[in-house]
Amino acid sequence: MKKQYLLLIVAAGLLTFFSACKNETVYKTLIITGQNNHNWKASSPILKQILDETGLFSAVIMTTPDKGGDMKAFDPDFSKYKLVVVDYNGDSWSEKTNNAFVEFVKNGGGVVFYHAANNSFPAWKEYNEMTGLGGWGDRNQKDGPYVYYKNDKLVTDTSAGTGGSHGKRREYLVRTRITDHPITRGLPVRWLHGTDELYSQLRGPAKNMQILATAFADSAAGGGTMRDEPMLMTITFGKGRIFHTAMGHADEGGGPAMQCVGFITTLQRGAEWAVTGDVTQKVPWDFPSAAGVVLRPGFKEMTLEEAFANISSYDITKSTKNLSCIQSKIRSMAGDEQGLLNLEKMMVKVLVGKETTVDAKKLLLRELSWMGSDYSVPAIKDLVSNAELKDEAEFALTRLKK
Ligand code: ZN
Repeated sequence: MKKQYLLLIVAAGLLTFFSACKNETVYKTLIITGQNNHNWKASSPILKQILDETGLFSAVIMTTPDKGGDMKAFDPDFSKYKLVVVDYNGDSWSEKTNNAFVEFVKNGGGVVFYHAANNSFPAWKEYNEMTGLGGWGDRNQKDGPYVYYKNDKLVTDTSAGTGGSHGKRREYLVRTRITDHPITRGLPVRWLHGTDELYSQLRGPAKNMQILATAFADSAAGGGTMRDEPMLMTITFGKGRIFHTAMGHADEGGGPAMQCVGFITTLQRGAEWAVTGDVTQKVPWDFPSAAGVVLRPGFKEMTLEEAFANISSYDITKSTKNLSCIQSKIRSMAGDEQGLLNLEKMMVKVLVGKETTVDAKKLLLRELSWMGSDYSVPAIKDLVSNAELKDEAEFALTRLKK
């Protein structure tokens, strides 16, 4: 009797647990788009995919009327959503919609502002308080200070001048400025971002704003202010939390700016923080370092198989980004003997592959020389007779003491 009673409690508990997971961990998300000086038809479905990929969000895309259309027709019920993502730069919304958006955020709604969303609505006071910083649209000193880092010091600069600029598109290093924020916790202090615009000279009210990460706008690298410009920001407005990413200029298919694992990861983490104030997502194993850009053309976390397939065709003229992925995977598996052995087996498979390039084999021999076990030894011994690989193979065997 007692046992049955206990079982019932356990079963009821499990049911509550599972239904709680189902109902509470998927955050309904509204992506607003429809007008932009950017390719919103490319970017908005990608933003949806990036968010949905986490399993935390369920996003719908809502488009406004076209430019010059009747904005009264754009009347979203914000209360149905936990998160609003703004991928919009165009005509003013109706006053009713503006007020509803302000109420939504004041009452605790989460917001993500993406790239040119900070160009929007220069005359809408609350919107600019939510973005913190903005550019273009005749913004100047009347709209608030420039905010940036100079020589590692945060500067609030009230000097006169227009807001918003960017030089040539380029790869650039992103520097984490606040490392203990839930969004940035565990990310490298420096990581290389895929080719993108480097938004500079943003200015705005900058109230209740934290700059999580910056990028140096080096004039020698294609035009810039020689300042560390804000790239990732958080803002609070009323009870609402806002994540603002200035990155991610979209080409067809997203391009390197959106495919960058750094862009994807910070967007996913920023979105979760905007909804809950915390981040439960792990830093993915393919997150870039300062050494190389890592792209996900399919916006899904790269599998090891994909990384290995890419590495087998490596030659020294190419970036070693896929190797960096494998290296970070090895690091993340420290202490997991079975996992490391599985990884070693995959490495040996590529090492002996007929299609694998000599350069790729050299890279793998170098990795195996320190993380390999007895398992690798026969395959490495076979390579000693290969004139092109003899030195690397012998070196690996010495390290492995065989
Ligand atoms: Zn852009």
